[in-house]
Amino acid sequence: MNQSTTLDQIPVTALKGVGGSLATKLAKIGLFNLQDILFHLPLRYMDRTRVTPIAALQPNMNAVIEGEIRGCEIVFGKRRSMVVRLQDATGNITLRFYHFNNAQKQRLQTGAGLRVFGETRRGSAGLEIYHPEYEVLDEAAPLPLEQSLTPIYPATEGLTQARLRTLALQSLHWLATHALHELLPDAVRIKLHQSSLAEALRFLHQPPVNANTQLLMDGEHPFQQRLAFEELLAHHLSLLLLRRQIQADGAVSLITNSNLRQTFLKNLPFKLTKAQARVTAEIAADLAKPLPMLRLIQGDVGSGKTVVAALATLAAVTSGKQAAIMAPTEILAEQHRLNFGRWLEPLGIKVGWLTGKLKVGERRTQLAAIASGEAQVVIGTHALFQDTVEFADLGLIVIDEQHRFGVHQRLSLSRKGAVLAATSSTNNSIHAMRPHQLIMTATPIPRTLAMSAYADLDCSVIDELPPGRTPITTVVISDKRREEVIERVRLGCAEGRQAYWVCTLIEESEVLEAQAAQVTAETLALALPQLRIGLIHGRLKSAEKETIMAAFKANELDLLVATTVIEVGVDVPNASLMIIENPERLGLAQLHQLRGRVGRGAIASHCVLLYGSPLSHHSKERLRVMRESSDGFYIAQQDLQLRGPGEVLGTRQTGEMQFKIADLQRDADLLPSVKHAASLLMSQYPELCHKIIERWLGKSHVYLQV
Ligand code: ADP
Ligand code: MG
Repeated sequence: MNQSTTLDQIPVTALKGVGGSLATKLAKIGLFNLQDILFHLPLRYMDRTRVTPIAALQPNMNAVIEGEIRGCEIVFGKRRSMVVRLQDATGNITLRFYHFNNAQKQRLQTGAGLRVFGETRRGSAGLEIYHPEYEVLDEAAPLPLEQSLTPIYPATEGLTQARLRTLALQSLHWLATHALHELLPDAVRIKLHQSSLAEALRFLHQPPVNANTQLLMDGEHPFQQRLAFEELLAHHLSLLLLRRQIQADGAVSLITNSNLRQTFLKNLPFKLTKAQARVTAEIAADLAKPLPMLRLIQGDVGSGKTVVAALATLAAVTSGKQAAIMAPTEILAEQHRLNFGRWLEPLGIKVGWLTGKLKVGERRTQLAAIASGEAQVVIGTHALFQDTVEFADLGLIVIDEQHRFGVHQRLSLSRKGAVLAATSSTNNSIHAMRPHQLIMTATPIPRTLAMSAYADLDCSVIDELPPGRTPITTVVISDKRREEVIERVRLGCAEGRQAYWVCTLIEESEVLEAQAAQVTAETLALALPQLRIGLIHGRLKSAEKETIMAAFKANELDLLVATTVIEVGVDVPNASLMIIENPERLGLAQLHQLRGRVGRGAIASHCVLLYGSPLSHHSKERLRVMRESSDGFYIAQQDLQLRGPGEVLGTRQTGEMQFKIADLQRDADLLPSVKHAASLLMSQYPELCHKIIERWLGKSHVYLQV
């Protein structure tokens, strides 16, 4: 192979010991060539460079120890195990093996010297190590210790650490004679004082003897940061490219008729807050452009996002286009239907309606109105995006209360939008047209996280609540004091207030959750015979849900026992007390959402977090955050610290935004320069963008279909 061949052109089979079957295994985890191997970076390191005295061991420590065997016996406990006592000059420790054979026992003779490597844990009688790696020491031939930290690679089935290590070391040899593309332009590297790529890779796969162990273990070493930067850059670029691809299609410019807007505003029973007015103007500016808007509105619970969305739909209507509003639940869609109907119909705008639970005849009527364009604004649930729905001319999609959305979800919506627009578009221009997109969320994302996770979206923040709200007081109470809480509900309702009692379950089962709520409703009915109690859960027919919600809104019910179906958007200003059972089971963002159902009127509101005791330390911390703050941004920031970005973004399960070396939280300080470098690359080095993405995210990412 000639010297000008670069490592990305050399297949893994060039390495010693890599045949067809190993190559297949490597391909499964996206490792095809030597560059891929070198970018399969250690997740962490183990320190096998020194022997730790037994007395200095702590629980959950990975350590090398050396000592003399003081005894070895088979113990018949719950499970048969072989137990070895090991002693050094400072103390002793138990080694425990559940899988062992006779030959092993023979070699572990009392008096023999042993070097052991493993993780300590607390056992019933002091520290133990389960299944350590061990070597019998021979005084005549002392074993060398490792010279440098041992890298630990991401675990993969069928590939041992030892195997991954030798592959990496072999690839490093090739690195001495073959080039690796440096993809960061000098302008970026020099400005950031970045080391060369080869140097960083060599260091990380084989840390030298004098490396700063602590920095490496913490992922803060400059070489790690250098690669983390490039990885974050790759993610950022992929989102920017996505945006560019979407915006390569045009959109129809939408401009609101100002008389229509004036009338709309005049009819409202309130004045827009400054924040609402600002965000409305930002949206209007986007809609006026012939490019599809991609905008995310973050606004805390109760900040008044609905009216902002309604104002956006006026632009579509003025321009003879349709707007679709998608809500996550039937209850919320229903509520939007009422609000939009009340706001838009007096202006002569026809509001259509589509959910999965419509009767056949009604559905047919609605579909016809949507297809003919008679329905100018259409409210609905996910049903709006089914194949059978045809819009006459869709110009704007609003997605409300979107809490968890990774890139894939966003993409699939955008794709559906494009398809909808394509089936609807009557114009014959060559350019594909996409509807504008507005995404609204009440789950604020901390700024740095938003910057990298939503680089493809423009963000607006409604950072102000309408005037006249009184803050919610939150208390955390053990369910041992349930009686007192019930009494509190009685007193509150006696004063003419209304209350929610929310039942939660861990199982994602509507059936079980409904049952639990049913039981609670019955118990509360016995305890509070004077109250009018309603029950609402996901198993009810949508007409039943509507009836109950309407009765609660009309103050014909005092107490609404509910499951988390009321989590988002439900708006009943007279409800001022909420009890949440087992709040420790829910995420902070979800609790914040639920709690946001109260505190919507002028009356002082209360939220009781009725936990099942005993609470773990972690749960206590989380509930403390809820008690101390009602600021969605602060809560999100805490949630991020307690649960990590994957959970907060809702992307952990989907495996999205998983990094090889970067950590969104630890490396947050890199994000501003990542952002800066990304726009520089997009404008001046477009050919490098694809290469960086491909190196870090794989080929498939470069050619995402949007
Ligand atoms: P969210 O942002 O949680 O979706 P909503 O749009 O449901 O909030 O608004 C919450 C409540 O505040 C509604 O009753 C709405 O009518 C009211 N509201 C919205 N904007 C204002 C305002 N500028 N002044 C007073 N009340 C408002
Ligand atoms: Mg809302």
